[in-house]
Amino acid sequence: MDKIKIKNLEVFAKHGVFPEENKLGQKFLVSVVLYTDTRKAGKTDDLTASIHYGEICRFIDAHMKSHTFQLIERAAETLAEELLLHTPHLEKLRLEVKKPWAPIGLPLETASVEIERQWHIAYIALGSNIGDRQANLDQAVEALAHLSRDIQTDELCSQNEADGGKDIRHTHVVKVSKYYETPPYGMTEQPDFLNACLKLRTLLSPQELLKTLQKIEKDAGRERVIHWGPRTLDLDIIFYDNLVLETADLCIPHVEMHKRRFVLEPLYDIAPYKRHPVYGKTVREMLEQADT
Ligand code: ATP
Ligand code: CA
Ligand code: CA
Repeated sequence: MDKIKIKNLEVFAKHGVFPEENKLGQKFLVSVVLYTDTRKAGKTDDLTASIHYGEICRFIDAHMKSHTFQLIERAAETLAEELLLHTPHLEKLRLEVKKPWAPIGLPLETASVEIERQWHIAYIALGSNIGDRQANLDQAVEALAHLSRDIQTDELCSQNEADGGKDIRHTHVVKVSKYYETPPYGMTEQPDFLNACLKLRTLLSPQELLKTLQKIEKDAGRERVIHWGPRTLDLDIIFYDNLVLETADLCIPHVEMHKRRFVLEPLYDIAPYKRHPVYGKTVREMLEQADT
């Protein structure tokens, strides 16, 4: 992707662990690489087709001055999130916050934190076979569409009003499949399921997304009694970009997805040609093979 770069923007601000730093302030240097497609602006000479780096500099300056954090990690994290939320055409950024006058008492050029953050696309499978199944799935879609943007809290409160009612969210529901009636899987002595899939655009990390889904399941009255047993709501991460991840509590892509009709059929509605990052097959191909 193309890049627009800002190097060593000087900002006088008050971030630091020591009280003197919070009182006196010091110099910070902020560098940012903005990943965006500049082709249209390059062809038309139209600024609105690109990102205005002057406005980005003013945004950084205001953000760094209007907060006092202990850590440059926090200054960088919040700044990256705000830039991704508020800048049209910005898909990804790399951001470095340097502290040339860090009070260490030893000679050094700078201490700094550098992070890379971006919008991600995730596919989620939904299932329910207890209670009002349709209402359970509807509620899950609603909950994902109205997540709090505050990266600090785990509370799933509704969007705060700080942005004057503007639609500024760290997670968007992009597409939802039809709902499919499916016979139970694994443990077959239980009611039929209603299954669906949805596409999310999100700033959440895979782990944050998993925690968020588990919170929504819990709010829907999900109890983990028997594995593969009946449940009011099950939310699984199927894909997260083209990430391949195996940790103790999270595997992406979902390890069984390529075999399951009840995942592939709704997924085919919204992403027929999305390719499995390991097996290399499209959703359509996996669905055809799950048939046989
Ligand atoms: P299955 O995973 O076979 O569909 P299940 O959904 O019924 O079974 P759960 O009891 O909901 O299983 O989840 C068990 C654990 O699976 C969760 O606690 C979670 O940590 C883990 N897990 C691993 N990978 C994923 C993923 N991609 N999405 C959701 N949970 C996952
Ligand atoms: Ca599941
Ligand atoms: Ca699950």
